Amino acid sequence: MLPLLLACSPGTPPPPVAPEPVGEGSVAPVPRAATADGRALRVPTDAGELTVHAVHHGTMVLSLGSTTVWVDPWSQGDLTGHPPADVLLITDIHPDHLDADAIAKVTTDSTIVVAPKAVDDALEHPVAHVLANGESVTVAGIGITATPMYNLVRGPEEGGLFHDPGRGNGYLLEVGGRRLYIAGDTECTPEMKALKQIDVAFVPMNLPYTMPPDEAAACVAAFAPRLAVPYHYRGSDLAVFDAGLVGTGVDVQRLAFYGE
Ligand code: ZN
Repeated sequence: MLPLLLACSPGTPPPPVAPEPVGEGSVAPVPRAATADGRALRVPTDAGELTVHAVHHGTMVLSLGSTTVWVDPWSQGDLTGHPPADVLLITDIHPDHLDADAIAKVTTDSTIVVAPKAVDDALEHPVAHVLANGESVTVAGIGITATPMYNLVRGPEEGGLFHDPGRGNGYLLEVGGRRLYIAGDTECTPEMKALKQIDVAFVPMNLPYTMPPDEAAACVAAFAPRLAVPYHYRGSDLAVFDAGLVGTGVDVQRLAFYGE
């Protein structure tokens, strides 16, 4: 995998936190428009309308024109009804994110996979771009920056963490002038709180693996995306998340990740 790693990591890697884009304030808010089944968010961009489909838990499908991007396909979700992946983003090695059977269902020989090294080590399917936290690549016109995702305090045993720093990747996507942040399985890290100019943030909340909704809301308030969308929230009380963002200026939209 070394040549591939080098191929997508030319020169000096970018800093962990993406630089502020030019033209701050020039991008219109994202209109809140979900489909009738509550599973899709439509985001207007300079490259056309981007649709984000909630599939299940951490699984999403992003559609932009003829380009389809899958995120963390998991067999517990209904993976039918969407085109195969032109681009596949994998965040981590846990089975709800790295599921070889699900990946086989949504990929073709031409799918471009973007993943952290720990995923590349565990996955037979070739990973085209192995990104460490802070590294970037552009695929199909979509800027993809790997962002840190990790636990601060929660783990399977005393002194351990469910997600060690540096192992997994969240992703900051830059599409047609929009910045979408898919946080991955994380607690409220300093890097997350330092994000700037995010249009749409997909934020996890479930215990014990990530964080409870009140912590997630406080974290979102710190980096103030235009729109926050809970995902990977099984068993969480989303009303607590909503309440935590009242008066912050952050809009919240729910997508029906669990068919509710
Ligand atoms: Zn997970």
